[in-house]
Amino acid sequence: LRRQGPAGRYAPSPTGDLHTGNLRTALVAWLQARQAGARFVMRIEDLDQPRVREGSAEKILDDLRWLGLDWDEGPELGGPAGPYNQSERVGLYQAALLRLQARGLVYPCYCSRKDIAEAASAPHGPGGIIYPGSCRHLSASEREARQQERPDRPPAWRFVAGEREVVFEDLICGVQRQHLAEDVGDFVLRRADDIFAYQLAVVLDDALMGISDVVRGDDLLDSTARQIALFEAFDQPPPRFWHVPLMRDEAGERLSKRDGSDALDVLRERGLDAPAIIGLLAHSLGWVPEGARLSAPELLDELSPSALSALRDHPERH
Ligand code: GLU
Repeated sequence: LRRQGPAGRYAPSPTGDLHTGNLRTALVAWLQARQAGARFVMRIEDLDQPRVREGSAEKILDDLRWLGLDWDEGPELGGPAGPYNQSERVGLYQAALLRLQARGLVYPCYCSRKDIAEAASAPHGPGGIIYPGSCRHLSASEREARQQERPDRPPAWRFVAGEREVVFEDLICGVQRQHLAEDVGDFVLRRADDIFAYQLAVVLDDALMGISDVVRGDDLLDSTARQIALFEAFDQPPPRFWHVPLMRDEAGERLSKRDGSDALDVLRERGLDAPAIIGLLAHSLGWVPEGARLSAPELLDELSPSALSALRDHPERH
């Protein structure tokens, strides 16, 4: 059952503390949803347990609340406001994978990283090595034999990317094109360590939660064509996409969670309160003068309807 009406979401991975770049994306996602009168869903993407840090999810949520952001609905409709935790939804991902298996859209892959690197002509795409499709056409007995070579490890499951170009218009980054087979190849939906891949979980959740607008960092622009192909495989309309430029440091490098220098805690230690930080983030997007102090709801009130799409002219976009 698809929920009706516009909806946005923020989907942090609990792998470390939020820094200004994440906060800016969260703020923009919240503003987009609230400006549209949409539901706003919070979803903790904690499937990759080896990378999850203890206590990180709670800290992220506390920090977002401290900043004045709020969200709606939890797993139980009418229950307390979110978030959803992907680790509690594995049964849904498994059922979705079975549906794709039944339709012949995925296949088991027994290749190790080494096998793939060694494959005759393994070409490179923007996301690294492109899987050469070695396991795509194995017969049942060949599969059996490959499994025998590694009896303790289940296969990974790959989605057949297909000979097609995916074209979509990002509301900030403009028209994007990616040829799936040539640029990324058949991609993994469930890993050999039994963890569901981000691509599968994110698409299924965005579909089940009725997300109409995905607002996220532009480091994920490159994943979007794969996700659109998956929406189609599930017979679901893809959402609109708004990829927000990631913040860069003075040297022009993208800020990441690993570089703790502008973690929220550090800003707080320097004496910045929530209105100062909202002002700082809004100023970095060209929305308010330097030094402005305002709450998230005040920013929402002040923001012009075209402020988000105007980000397409933002200097950090490339
Ligand atoms: N969980 C992902 C991250 O933190 C974001 C997923 C998404 O917004 O699609 O990078």
